[in-house]
Amino acid sequence: MRQFFGDLHIHIGKAGGKPVKITASRQLDLRRILFIDAERKGLDIIGIVDAGSPLVTAEIEEMIKDGELIPHSKGGFIASNGVMLITGCEIETAEGAHVVLYLPNLESLYNYQKYMQKRVTNLNLSTQKTTATLPELINLAILLEGFICPAHAFTPHKGIYGMLTGSIDKFLGKDAVQIKTIELGLSADTDMADMLKEAYRFTFLSNSDAHSSANVGREYNLFSMRELSFTELKLCIEGYDGRRIKANYGMDPRLGKYHRSFCLECGRIADSPPPVLKCTFCGSDSKLVKGVLDRVYEIRDYEEPHHPVGRAPYKYRVPLKELPGIGIKTIEKLLKVYRSEIEITETVPVEDIERVAGRKVAQSIQKMRNEELTILPGGGGYYGKIAPCNNDD
Ligand SMILES: [Zn+2]
Ligand SMILES: [Zn+2]
Repeated sequence: MRQFFGDLHIHIGKAGGKPVKITASRQLDLRRILFIDAERKGLDIIGIVDAGSPLVTAEIEEMIKDGELIPHSKGGFIASNGVMLITGCEIETAEGAHVVLYLPNLESLYNYQKYMQKRVTNLNLSTQKTTATLPELINLAILLEGFICPAHAFTPHKGIYGMLTGSIDKFLGKDAVQIKTIELGLSADTDMADMLKEAYRFTFLSNSDAHSSANVGREYNLFSMRELSFTELKLCIEGYDGRRIKANYGMDPRLGKYHRSFCLECGRIADSPPPVLKCTFCGSDSKLVKGVLDRVYEIRDYEEPHHPVGRAPYKYRVPLKELPGIGIKTIEKLLKVYRSEIEITETVPVEDIERVAGRKVAQSIQKMRNEELTILPGGGGYYGKIAPCNNDD
């Protein structure tokens, strides 16, 4: 088996000169993501979630014509720098939850567009609300030989567990087995998700949901599979014949912007033990944005996480730029010596980092690897923060 780093949830800001994801940076176009951001971060697999937009498929066609992308016979597209592009379509189901349909090739994308044409208002835009229900979308993913993944599964507004149901099994009945993977989202981790009994059969994905270059790869996965192709990725997610996700790398959930309940009335983040389901300061429940941790505690089956055998470890990571004492200049300096941010984060010995960028930077990275950073939790749409560390302790 070979090892590949991948981030499967990245938004496109613009394609063909037109906006795709309104809230995403206009600089974020397909070429930039594949040829600049992926290389800088050290990602071998890039999952775009706006590939259902005809503007994006037109760009993919153009890149194929120009020799910048080659469709793989087993699905997926290989860019001229070796990075694999996986095409996905994030959509809001009729029930209101976000899911991503990952599809293997242009033909399946065209069929997706044909199906969606009358089921969304504007196909050019990302993550539109559709009249198709979750079971219908599961069916569509199967027919198009792709796979479906509930996105940021635990977030309060659009996550399947956050807003739709406490149990996918109960909600879907027998069809639940068609969902093989869920995306944890920035505010959840493996320990939290594995407090749900039914989670044992899901592969967990940790993806960035990037709306800007800087956030590409803020979460990523290590895939162990035979080669770079869509089919291999799908088998990897199903854990078929030795393929598996070897590790998830993501933010400490406390850094996520929906980690704890937040009261819009008093503007405060809950600090009493979860689940906080109404504001402990003013008593309001209608003005409370439920936190991901609070939601998990509300619906959990186990008091403690129950990890199935073979569950990938979840390693807490933050982008280098967010580590205390590390600025853009330091990162540039390190990237002159090492290939990518992931290499610096995961494998370069700290003594080497110290020689290039100094002791403080090396200590910050060491602290992250040891999961010793001090976190101030987020909530209500505000990201948590990393406390400045006393680097000499
Ligand atoms: Zn979403
Ligand atoms: Zn998204």
